[in-house]
Amino acid sequence: MTNRLKGKVALISGGARGMGESHARRFVAEGANVVISDVLDEEGATVAKDLGDAAAYVHLDVTDEGQWNDAVTTTTDRFGHLDVLVNNAGIVHVMPMAMTTVEDFRRVVDINQIGVFLGMKAAVPALAATKNGSIINISSVAGLIGAQGHIAYCASKWAVRGMTKVAALELASLGVRVNSIHPGLIDTPMFDEYRKLGIDEAAGASVPIGRLAEADDVSELALYLASDESRYSTGSEFVVDGGMTAGPVGR
Ligand code: NAD
Repeated sequence: MTNRLKGKVALISGGARGMGESHARRFVAEGANVVISDVLDEEGATVAKDLGDAAAYVHLDVTDEGQWNDAVTTTTDRFGHLDVLVNNAGIVHVMPMAMTTVEDFRRVVDINQIGVFLGMKAAVPALAATKNGSIINISSVAGLIGAQGHIAYCASKWAVRGMTKVAALELASLGVRVNSIHPGLIDTPMFDEYRKLGIDEAAGASVPIGRLAEADDVSELALYLASDESRYSTGSEFVVDGGMTAGPVGR
């Protein structure tokens, strides 16, 4: 522990498992207080309990504006202020475009895109109050390039990348930085959707670095963006994809 986040308070959406859980654990290890939020109440409360007094759990469906406002209030009531928002909650939907229904599409956009918009909106007054806030929006490599079979997911993740830049421009004068993270293939419960389709660890061979990422490979980047070490970065894209978007692998 090097206390890179000492004194910081973070709110993480979708923090009950996967990358959100990993970010919560990493942030607490670096001295932060963290509010974990999710729709998976049992799992989220268990993670918070495991982290002790430095963490709390709050139910938050990111599609609900009222629940976002309550989550921010819970955070500031419990820990005094809010410095970092990680808009991490998300779902994936793998389906060819021709078979994607408008209901499927709207569900993905509602969670991955509108959820991020609502989160930023709800957190800005508290973040601006510290004059040193950081918003970390979790996009994807699917927000940088196309991904076959991911029409709705790609739409939502490109939107996250664009909204990040708008928010960065609007919030810089308030002392709030906004950046996006673009993970590649990360071995979390979300990756189980691919396992159902017969895609497993072997897919790591198609990545230049030669393996899938673990959630904590991404937490290192989230930690940097949450900390003051990233003080001059805003409106930027931070890629953690093992080289996936650099080009085809020759091996
Ligand atoms: P995950 O499925 O393990 O975790 C996602 C979390 O979001 C879950 O705890 C889930 O309950 C929560 N969630 C879903 N809908 C919600 C809602 N309406 N309100 C609140 N919480 C909700 O997935 P993960 O891999 O940890 O993904 C985290 C983020 O990273 C997502 O935004 C995802 O799109 C993105 N991402 C994942 C990968 C990957 O390969 N796993 C790659 C790139 C980007």
